[in-house]
Amino acid sequence: MEVHLVSSTDSDEFTHLTRALSRSTVIGLDAEWKPIRSQQSTFPTVTLLQLACQLGDDTAVWDESVVFLLDLALIPLSSIYELLKDVFVSPDILKLGFRFKQDLIFLSSTFSGQGCNPGFDKVEPYMDITNIYKLWQHKQGKKVSKDTKSLSAICEEVLGTSLSKELQCSDWSHRPLSEDQIRYAASDAHCLLGIFKTFKAKIVKEGHSCSDVKELHQHNVNLGLKEILTMPDNNNMVVGTKFCNALDIVQATASSEDCERIAQVVEVVRNTKPMDESLLKIVKKYGEKILLRESDRKPKSSRKKGRKRSSVVVCREKKLEIFSDWQGPPPWDISLGGDGCPKFLCDVMVEGLAKHLRCVGVDAAIPHSKLPEPRELIDQACREKRVLLTRDAKLLRHQYLIKNQIYRVNNLLKNEQLLEVIEVFQLKISEDQLMSRCTKCNGRFIQKPLTTEEAIEAAKGFQRIPNCLFNKNLEFWQCMECNQLYWEGTQYHNAVQKFIDVCKLNE
Ligand SMILES: [Zn+2]
Repeated sequence: MEVHLVSSTDSDEFTHLTRALSRSTVIGLDAEWKPIRSQQSTFPTVTLLQLACQLGDDTAVWDESVVFLLDLALIPLSSIYELLKDVFVSPDILKLGFRFKQDLIFLSSTFSGQGCNPGFDKVEPYMDITNIYKLWQHKQGKKVSKDTKSLSAICEEVLGTSLSKELQCSDWSHRPLSEDQIRYAASDAHCLLGIFKTFKAKIVKEGHSCSDVKELHQHNVNLGLKEILTMPDNNNMVVGTKFCNALDIVQATASSEDCERIAQVVEVVRNTKPMDESLLKIVKKYGEKILLRESDRKPKSSRKKGRKRSSVVVCREKKLEIFSDWQGPPPWDISLGGDGCPKFLCDVMVEGLAKHLRCVGVDAAIPHSKLPEPRELIDQACREKRVLLTRDAKLLRHQYLIKNQIYRVNNLLKNEQLLEVIEVFQLKISEDQLMSRCTKCNGRFIQKPLTTEEAIEAAKGFQRIPNCLFNKNLEFWQCMECNQLYWEGTQYHNAVQKFIDVCKLNE
């Protein structure tokens, strides 16, 4: 594994990086930060960004890759902002990550913090290793696992090599980085390439015809300049080439200020090698994207942690008319920065429903006081922009106060109430959202699991955890709001299974 530590833009390593980026069609991304331990109201600062570049794609040569570690603690962020932004959305580079959305949120906040606004909001085309692994399992004829595995477990299974997680929570802000930290950081990004390569080989071996790709090419041959520049997914070779031509023309007519910026874009886009057909096909078929919304950028606002995947969606088109209580436009204002998902406030009578909603990753608050007046409930719902869920008919009399922001739950039992709310509000629940929220307080979890030592420390005098659990190599997660610790033991797996059944995710 060839590793380069890049700590200045005025260095050979940096030149090497830009050259490698222009020759790569697949890169693995990962980031490191100093873990946060308590109720901090800011995102952690990313101090290291790893880019593993796949240089060649000769199947005979196992590894033609090189890993760059960008030292964000030393490089002025404004000097690499445009470059990274372009790489993140370059249609010629497939980006791989392991739950990279989280990293992107922190990365974006780190860059905005140094005046690089608005930060990053998009990575496309992108594939998450979690999904690649599931596809790989499926292609192998194996049973697709329901649990989201850790990267090291996936690595072990697919590549047969283990990944040490010891240094995950080490101090990534300390300089110089230790040899071990450098090796650890590099291999985390590097293994993404290996896993993808194995998956790709499997697909190629299946010998899919390339007819789709050819059709696509022909279809795009006659596109005009305007279409090319505005095409949302211009990730094929013809469009790639035309995009460069289009940029030439734009550059020729733009002001000199714009030219400088465009020049940087052109630098990357023009010189990037287009994807080969088999890769292109995979991207077309399985490619995803990460999109950050305004609400992702605020650490305090509680929202569900899980990413949404369109592949697992329940209750797409359910009959709304049976729930005659619900009328009118969505009460959550999408323009206010929500991500199209409503947040709820559960009245005392449906508190059990609040817990259930949290279990499937939906933001569900309960009243601030134990016996709230109707007025208090309505105020809270308005202030926090939540839909008030209740079984109390009296409350509905006040609904003129919160236009269409109150819903009367019909069912009596929690499981059925959960399904009802999912259907009425057309919530998209995916498996990786399950258990992504603190059931006790509706808070979010810190973003990387604690090590056993940290978990022992965090539990001291606060929460009783049976000692035997610490020897089991379990992942411990801590709620950012109330510090409650959770671990992925038997109870966890039972709960996940329960909600898979309740929400009919396996159908
Ligand atoms: Zn909590």
